[in-house]
Amino acid sequence: MSPGWVTVVPLPPVPGIDTLSYSLPASLAERVQPGVRVLVPLGRRKVTALVTALETQAPAGIKCRDLSEVTDDKPVFPPELLKLSRWMADYYLSSLGEVVSLALGKGLTSSSIATVSLLDADKASTPTQRAVVEALRSSGEAMELPSLERATGSRSLRAVVSTLEKHGAVKVEQLLQSAKVSEQYRTVVRLLKADDEMAEQLCSRAPVRLQLYQHLRDTPARRATLAELAELFGSPRDKLSPLEKAGLVEVSREELCREHDAESEVDKRVELNDEQAAAVAAVSESLGSYRSFLLEGVTASGKTEVYLQLVAATLALGRSALVLVPEISLTHQLVSRLVARFGPTVAVLHSELGAGRRWDQWRRVARGEARIVVGARSAVLAPIAELGLVVVDEEHDGSYKQEDGVRYNGRDVAIVRASMAGCPVVLGSATPSVETWRNANEQRYGHLRLPHRILKRPMPVIETVDLRGRDLEKMGGISDRLGYLMKRNAEEGGQTLLFLNRRGYASQLQCWACGEAVNCSNCSVRLTLHRDRHELRCHHCDTIKPPPSCCPSCGADGLSGQGLGTQRLQDAVSLLLPEASVERMDRDTTSRRGAGQSMLSRWRRGEFDVLIGTQMIAKGHDAPGVTLVGVVHADMTLGLPDFRASERTFQLLSQVAGRAGRGEKPGRVVLQTYQPDHPAVLLALEHRYTDFIESELAEREELGYPPWSRMVMLRFESPEQGAASLMAERAAGLAVSAAREMSELEVRGPAPAPLERLRGRWRFVLQLRAPSAATTAAAAGWIRDVLKDPCRQDNVRMSVDVDPVSML
Ligand code: ADP
Ligand code: ZN
Repeated sequence: MSPGWVTVVPLPPVPGIDTLSYSLPASLAERVQPGVRVLVPLGRRKVTALVTALETQAPAGIKCRDLSEVTDDKPVFPPELLKLSRWMADYYLSSLGEVVSLALGKGLTSSSIATVSLLDADKASTPTQRAVVEALRSSGEAMELPSLERATGSRSLRAVVSTLEKHGAVKVEQLLQSAKVSEQYRTVVRLLKADDEMAEQLCSRAPVRLQLYQHLRDTPARRATLAELAELFGSPRDKLSPLEKAGLVEVSREELCREHDAESEVDKRVELNDEQAAAVAAVSESLGSYRSFLLEGVTASGKTEVYLQLVAATLALGRSALVLVPEISLTHQLVSRLVARFGPTVAVLHSELGAGRRWDQWRRVARGEARIVVGARSAVLAPIAELGLVVVDEEHDGSYKQEDGVRYNGRDVAIVRASMAGCPVVLGSATPSVETWRNANEQRYGHLRLPHRILKRPMPVIETVDLRGRDLEKMGGISDRLGYLMKRNAEEGGQTLLFLNRRGYASQLQCWACGEAVNCSNCSVRLTLHRDRHELRCHHCDTIKPPPSCCPSCGADGLSGQGLGTQRLQDAVSLLLPEASVERMDRDTTSRRGAGQSMLSRWRRGEFDVLIGTQMIAKGHDAPGVTLVGVVHADMTLGLPDFRASERTFQLLSQVAGRAGRGEKPGRVVLQTYQPDHPAVLLALEHRYTDFIESELAEREELGYPPWSRMVMLRFESPEQGAASLMAERAAGLAVSAAREMSELEVRGPAPAPLERLRGRWRFVLQLRAPSAATTAAAAGWIRDVLKDPCRQDNVRMSVDVDPVSML
């Protein structure tokens, strides 16, 4: 039976609507298949939607409207990806439309918009109606509803305009706005045959035309774009047409693929050492079926080379590979190594790319032209068919988790994707997450180890400087010991990396008279002093204000900056090493696109002596000249109200330390700390990852935290403190009653979130835990459904966070 109906998801998604059904006019039936974009009527508008299924039976109980138009000739969304998207929508308690639109990215949708034109001004009666008519008259043309609202300063004119329409005062039409992102084309001229005699005849009185012909004949590809010809020969169209008529050249339109922006580097072929070879062999054996592997390799053990060889083996089998990295601009080196080795078959997908380029890369993958996809977390939703290998580099990294919209974890989705595709997935890290390590330890994952650095290079020697009883700020962040080593390293021509996980100059402005600090008016945090621009800034909502001259609480002239930031550290370094070239890498110095990438490239080439930075400098870059790493305040992140604080600190310290001694000269690391006995510090010092993980697992088991339980976090946010807290209470009541039926469900809270106020909203949280994800999901899904309408009525934003990473 031929399909007569389709199921679609509207794009962008419409809150409260998951899928919609339409009937399929016979004239369009041939062009419609799952994964193509279409236009459908929705209310009075027309919107873009993606076809998710064809149906041979009419949906029961509803009368379907006709689908209007088909946008794509070929599916842009392959069936495998629809299947994965459905899984994500279910697991993360989101909707299919949200996931599909996340995958496709922005700007790919058209929608119609109400456009109002004036018919009869005298038929307006109320003041608002008259204002509308007046605005239309003064503009002299039809206006879109939003601009009409802007012109009259009204919030919603929908009802007013529809009354005016009924009275015959205005006419309302739905006009289609096309998608912001679309394909780009160029015109190409190709020489079909080289026939000098004929050309000379055709060009006897047109020497420029002859030159044009000769140019085409002599270029190796025998083709050129119209734009190139225009540059060389001036308006080429009329010059071409006799040649075209005579069948010498062909003029055609061809799609332009906007390139990704990744640089390539010189490809270094290396011979694998035994450990690397064993890892490659183990995964290669599994090519063709699903299996998860943890590749636990210390820093500079050559994990990247293992990935590259596995990718090559996958391509050799005629299948495609997906490589995920935490943050493209900071892990650019892996991308450029892939590009260097595999060239044009690499597609790069990330959000910084810009919508047009991203769309071209996306379709290159969908058409099977690019067989390797590398990108940040959203690349896990790339339209790859015949997937043969998935690699997740730095799998422990928190940036795999999306913290808004669909709150998915790119690493976890990658594992599911591999299992659906029937291919291996390799999770690589020097410091695997507690969850992954446990899976490997219990043999659910293959456990591959690279315990040594390449070429038998030694691990860096780490020492601590005990800060207890000392004032870190007074010393500008640099102890005598660290200062001494920095000087010596500079004399020996080595590069020094200094890590401090706080940007700005001082972390707060505090009054010595009354003790108050200057807070953000939207968030429950203190404002950070940025001295270069002489301003106070909120690192959560980006509020900026000038530093007050006296204390806003008591009026005393007693404000002073406290708490060390990277700007202040930079001053201290310049004092200590006046000759050295020093650069700083944090969100402030890398806001320009590509800035982080280019700073890291110059650092790798040894173009400056000292790099100061926040956690941005901890990720996997490989600079061979770094012989000294200083961690200014090693225990700074231990105090965060988060059960993963120790794990993160350990990972951060090991990763930062791992930047030292990657080249021929050995490296040294100094950890300055107030808690030299804390396991996260102590064990990082000795590279004792396994011991750390075991102590961490024991502690979490006692407290019932993941991976010993599964967790869902419900958050309730509102500008009204009472509304948010009340809704959290209601949710808790529901959770407790759910727990009566599901005895293994554990309810924690409600409680104010650690960041109680953020961007003007009060925040309350409720934690659900259970041994199985099905239990927490069932409870959370039910609570969400019950509270959906009350939340809307009381202006409370509810979010459901499955497997939360951030506890703030
Ligand atoms: P990791 O990701 O484990 O920190 P990398 O993959 O960045 O380490 O490797 C570190 C350096 O060692 C790179 O410059 C890489 O080219 C080089 N390398 C990798 N494998 C070998 C090998 N078998 N022999 C020599 N050099 C290697
Ligand atoms: Zn703020």
